[in-house]
Amino acid sequence: MTETTKVNLLGLTQPQLEGFFESIGEKRFRAGQVMKWIHHFGVDDFEAMSNIGKALREKLKACAEIRGPEIVSQDISSDGTRKWVVRVASGSCVETVYIPQAGRGTLCVSSQAGCSLDCSFCSTGKQGFNSDLTAAEIIGQVWIANKSFGTVPAKIDRAVTNVVMMGMGEPLLNFDNAVAAMQIMMDDLGYGISKRKVTLSTSGVAPMIDELGKVIDVSLALSLHAPNDALRDRLVPINRKYPLAVVLDACKRYISRLGEKRVLTVEYTLLKDVNDQPEHAAQMIELLRDVPCKINLIPFNPFPFSGYERPSNNAIRRFQDLLHQAGHNVTVRTTRGEDIDAACGQLVGQVMDRTRRSERHITVRQLGDEAAPSPSAANRT
Ligand code: SAH
Ligand code: SF4
Repeated sequence: MTETTKVNLLGLTQPQLEGFFESIGEKRFRAGQVMKWIHHFGVDDFEAMSNIGKALREKLKACAEIRGPEIVSQDISSDGTRKWVVRVASGSCVETVYIPQAGRGTLCVSSQAGCSLDCSFCSTGKQGFNSDLTAAEIIGQVWIANKSFGTVPAKIDRAVTNVVMMGMGEPLLNFDNAVAAMQIMMDDLGYGISKRKVTLSTSGVAPMIDELGKVIDVSLALSLHAPNDALRDRLVPINRKYPLAVVLDACKRYISRLGEKRVLTVEYTLLKDVNDQPEHAAQMIELLRDVPCKINLIPFNPFPFSGYERPSNNAIRRFQDLLHQAGHNVTVRTTRGEDIDAACGQLVGQVMDRTRRSERHITVRQLGDEAAPSPSAANRT
């Protein structure tokens, strides 16, 4: 049997792994044993699985493997943030970021190499799209991050306590693999992370939000970024297909199914003079009137030739105050890991673009070099 025909057990959920053991004529309970070795102890070698007999270990070695994405680099920021660049099967590289905070550690996980949705202020979008990550490549990022802190069996001591699907890509456009990976994150035989602490962020693929609600109960974040359709059509092009009313209805349905006082997280990247004015705050208050939510403002993180700027701290505070006065719970995301380019929207990896969008973006950059316009002049209408 060749390498490539081996089944990679890393990305299999518990029922899938039970099915695998049945398919090779073994008992289903082996799935639990092997999952613990993989996810609790970070093991990738069947030889290390001491409660599995030699004959079965040999059988597994012949037909299966435990393989995470290849680590290309690991950087540690002065503030403790860690960033990995990993290579996936398609040859592209994606990024994963670990953010330590008091009492918790949040891992920002990628779901695709690049992204097809082309939001105008996102560097991942500017790279175009190459491939969906497999479930093993998605959960593999959690596996790698935990392993980098040493193998710690007790889940209470694990480094990764929260996961946000906010790295590269749109997770709802890689639905099955994102769901399988999140199931492993929440499974006690996997990472045992509570459903409240696993968050899927979407730019608003409305029909898939309903599909998500049928299979899983993780927390949901909507990348709003604009309080009216005209502006959102420009910033988040998927809005032309699923406008605000449609996507917010889908979010409300999803949240109401969760019950237990759970709310939608609304992400709003603040772009200077584009969506940061008092009128935008007023429209947002009206729009979110009957949406149970908390709002997370993300000051824009610049990248070369984006055409946007971060608002001043005063403008950010003014926007936050307006929402706050209307009764909203509003936080401003602090930028972490800037010295290793790990901040939101700065994740670029190395995507072998299939859409040729990155070529167009590079052309714009070159034109920009020649004409040397002010970076803030572009992309505004
Ligand atoms: N595709 C999904 C998940 C990944 S993006 C989504 O869009 O929700 C994670 C978050 O970072 C999104 O809210 C996105 O809009 C935001 N973001 C993208 N580029 C950014 C930038 N340059 N500065 C700040 N936030 C950015
Ligand atoms: Fe894709 Fe999200 Fe970036 Fe938009 S913000 S281009 S959906 S990764």
